[in-house]
Amino acid sequence: MLQLNNVSYQFKESDPVLLNVSFSITKGEYIAIIGRSGSGKSTLGKLIKGLVKPTSGSITYHREKQNIGFLFQNPDNQMVRTIVEDDLAFGLENAAMNPSLIEERIACYAQKLGIDHLRKRSINELSGGQKQRVALAGLLVLEPELIILDEATSMLDPEGRHEVLEQLASMYQESKTLVTITHELEEMAKCTRIIGLANGEIVFDGSFSQLMRQEGVMQDLGCVKPFR
Ligand code: ATP
Ligand code: MG
Repeated sequence: MLQLNNVSYQFKESDPVLLNVSFSITKGEYIAIIGRSGSGKSTLGKLIKGLVKPTSGSITYHREKQNIGFLFQNPDNQMVRTIVEDDLAFGLENAAMNPSLIEERIACYAQKLGIDHLRKRSINELSGGQKQRVALAGLLVLEPELIILDEATSMLDPEGRHEVLEQLASMYQESKTLVTITHELEEMAKCTRIIGLANGEIVFDGSFSQLMRQEGVMQDLGCVKPFR
């Protein structure tokens, strides 16, 4: 779907946040991007989405107009309207979709994400976890080809996290392509590929089971193996 070629990124007058990052994303992959806080994960997500441009290197998209959905780490950055269902309709209305189809889409994803009961609520009255579900629904209603999630479940309780992860995994099986930025082992375990960043460089690219066998690398990535 796309390829990063020696991508580096630097905020003004700081050390590079990303350094010579190269990898490609193929349709149908479910990729986890992992690494310690500050390792450059969110920056990498924004680069792929095209919200920021590489300082050097390039990103090649295999189709001219790629439909990429990006979920911000902070759901407050995602919301544009006051009432939940209006917010969910925003992108679809902009795409001039027929109102009955809009309603169908919203009903479908509100149900999948367990936010049916929140549709008439005001977004600023919601809890962090509820906002996160609404933000995710707002992205999924647009049915993007590539979905990039920046810590999509960080504010959910364990049960809610499990529920949303199951939904994501089932969407992956419906042949969507997912890139998820995460610190959660449960989420990594569902992915087909793990890319580990340390100090802006790729230090691991392989499967979850390979990662679990490399204790030194896990340490560099800030992963802690659960007790057995
Ligand atoms: P976390 O797990 O905490 O979300 P992250 O891996 O997503 O961390 P980034 O948000 O990509 O990390 O940030 C990478 C580095 O870039 C950090 O050192 C951060 O301080 C720096 N950084 C991020 N945004 C800016 C900015 N607007 N200006 C200057 N430096 C920034
Ligand atoms: Mg981040």
